[in-house]
Amino acid sequence: MGKITGFMEHERIEEGYKPVEERVKHYKEFVVGLNTDQAKVQGARCMDCGTPFCNSGCPVNNIIPDFNDLVYRDDWQNAFAVLDSTNNFPEFTGRICPAPCEAACVLNVNDDAVGIKSLEHAIIDRAWDEGWVAPRVAKHKTGKKVAVVGSGPAGMAAAQQLARAGHDVTLFEKNDRVGGLLRYGIPDFKMEKSHIDRRVEQMKAEGVTFRTGVMVGAAKDPLGKGSKVTNLAKETVTPEQLQKDFDAVVLTGGAEQSRDLPVPGRDLDGIHFAMEFLPQQNRVNAGDKVKGQLRADGKHVIVIGGGDTGSDCVGTSNRHGAVSVTQFELMPQPPEEENRPLTWPYWPIKLRTSSSHEEGCEREFAISTKEFIGEKGKVTGLKTVRVEWKDGKMQEVPGSEQILKADLVLLAMGFISPVATVLDAFGVEKDARGNARATVDFIGGYATNVPKVFAAGDIRRGQSLVVWAIREGRQAARSVDEFLMGFSDLPR
Ligand SMILES: Cc1cc2nc3c(=O)[nH]c(=O)nc-3n(C[C@H](O)[C@H](O)[C@H](O)COP(=O)(O)OP(=O)(O)OC[C@H]3O[C@@H](n4cnc5c(N)ncnc54)[C@H](O)[C@@H]3O)c2cc1C
Ligand code: SF4
Repeated sequence: MGKITGFMEHERIEEGYKPVEERVKHYKEFVVGLNTDQAKVQGARCMDCGTPFCNSGCPVNNIIPDFNDLVYRDDWQNAFAVLDSTNNFPEFTGRICPAPCEAACVLNVNDDAVGIKSLEHAIIDRAWDEGWVAPRVAKHKTGKKVAVVGSGPAGMAAAQQLARAGHDVTLFEKNDRVGGLLRYGIPDFKMEKSHIDRRVEQMKAEGVTFRTGVMVGAAKDPLGKGSKVTNLAKETVTPEQLQKDFDAVVLTGGAEQSRDLPVPGRDLDGIHFAMEFLPQQNRVNAGDKVKGQLRADGKHVIVIGGGDTGSDCVGTSNRHGAVSVTQFELMPQPPEEENRPLTWPYWPIKLRTSSSHEEGCEREFAISTKEFIGEKGKVTGLKTVRVEWKDGKMQEVPGSEQILKADLVLLAMGFISPVATVLDAFGVEKDARGNARATVDFIGGYATNVPKVFAAGDIRRGQSLVVWAIREGRQAARSVDEFLMGFSDLPR
């Protein structure tokens, strides 16, 4: 433990944001990370608890007290070594993880948690700047071939771990670029895409082969039912081909089937899934030309869905120059502060105001959409009703119906499952929610019912977080390594 009295002497230091007026003019990151002195103070606040709840609160089990202490002692290179031992991509999580570790921090019981995420961010950015992040090429090749299908954080983590174990790994991706939702979903202002490109170069040097623009299994409806996104893959590979050419296959295709809102008027122009809207802006930021890009300029935008995806639609709409942005949430407004003794060390439900909300957004809670209203085939408004919850059941509030103006409606109500066709093509059994059925058991975990086919990330656990995807990719890699070799030295 660095400074025994640090938690009593020092306050939590938040990372800064560039001013709203400045940042809404561009799509670049705007978080101002901690400088070395601030990071040292933050590290000094860690109490090095006998039972570090942060460590189990973090899905990849980052060894948080150790890196906190090393930063306090100015030993950044070893802080990076500790962080790198559990997390393949801390520059992703240090930027966009909601930090369940901080909810679990013991200081959070009656004070402000240690700024763990800001330290993770500072350590990995410094490690890249100093050149400490280098390829780790396997000393011995096993001669085994593994196909990973889907290049989001789960697929990237699985591929990197398997290549480091000496296997010959090919990562297949239907999109033209690697990264899954990190690339085409999460806006650049939350995470610039150069962070993915840098890792792709590292992984290539470690022996991973990337095959982008290749759809495995199913060519139609790449984002599932109701989506207007067409298949851009240039090539299709059948499951039979993969099973013939590879010793193991890891499915990491995510959960791309968006939840729809099938109320009257859904077919009107101007109503889109968030995943028809957000990836287009990612493409434009990457320098692509997107014909007829969906834009919010000059429009009254209503975002239906109060989560992360909805918040990303708010931030993107404001950058486009929307006249107004309103976000709907079906559930009532949660309390500003959680009841800490009741919720700690778990993730509390409380009002969360994102940086995108701060940039300008009306937030409506306990509101439901009954109908989309339009003129000449185009959406012009929404008929809404207030709702309340009685005995766990949602009820409409009589007389609370209202018409709200909208020229663009973005549906951001989450994702219900993977797109079924890829699992069906492999003959993989699904659970009740339509996800790939596979356990996370220590031995044999992540294996599906189909011989030598494994599944990890959102395709197995359902819509989740980047940090969970990295964990599942790492753990699945260990299972695959054990399956191929009879034992594994990969960490779990
Ligand atoms: C808009 C948005 C914002 C989010 N913000 C956050 C956030 O701030 N923090 C956070 O932690 N999480 C966030 N998430 C959730 C997070 O992005 C996901 O949980 C995570 O990316 C899941 O990783 P994955 O690797 O399992 O799948 P994905 O990232 O979905 O990657 C799956 C990849 O597989 C490819 N694929 C699918 N089927 C095939 C096929 N048949 N052949 C070839 N390729 C295929 C897809 O094209 C995709 O590239 C957000 C999600 C969205 C949509
Ligand atoms: S990955 Fe997320 S939960 Fe883990 S230490 Fe980083 S911010 Fe915390």
